[in-house]
Amino acid sequence: MAEPEKAEALGPDTLRLPPEAARKLGLSPGARLEAAVCRSSVELRPDIHSLAKVYIEPSSRCNLSCRTCIRQTWSEPLGDMDLPLFQRPAAAAYGLRASSSVHNVE
Ligand code: SF4
Repeated sequence: MAEPEKAEALGPDTLRLPPEAARKLGLSPGARLEAAVCRSSVELRPDIHSLAKVYIEPSSRCNLSCRTCIRQTWSEPLGDMDLPLFQRPAAAAYGLRASSSVHNVE
């Protein structure tokens, strides 16, 4: 486990988070957090509208047939997202401060 980073109290109601913690929470300026006080600790939870990760599933095809898969209930034909459609959310996500990674499964 990594060494905890230090947050800084700037006043009785203002807290500065370490940049890595803010990044992990997907925070942008003005973002609001939920603070849950529990005995001697406080848990900070991101607002439901802050975005930390974006998952894009560019294909509905799969070689497997798991019984619990959502695809078992679909009636739509299987297929792949075309490149222009993929590029729109990918370009929007590019501007986010959240970390990004691309997984390619072939
Ligand atoms: S859950 Fe669905 S998409 Fe995932 S491996 Fe199984 S069949 Fe494929």
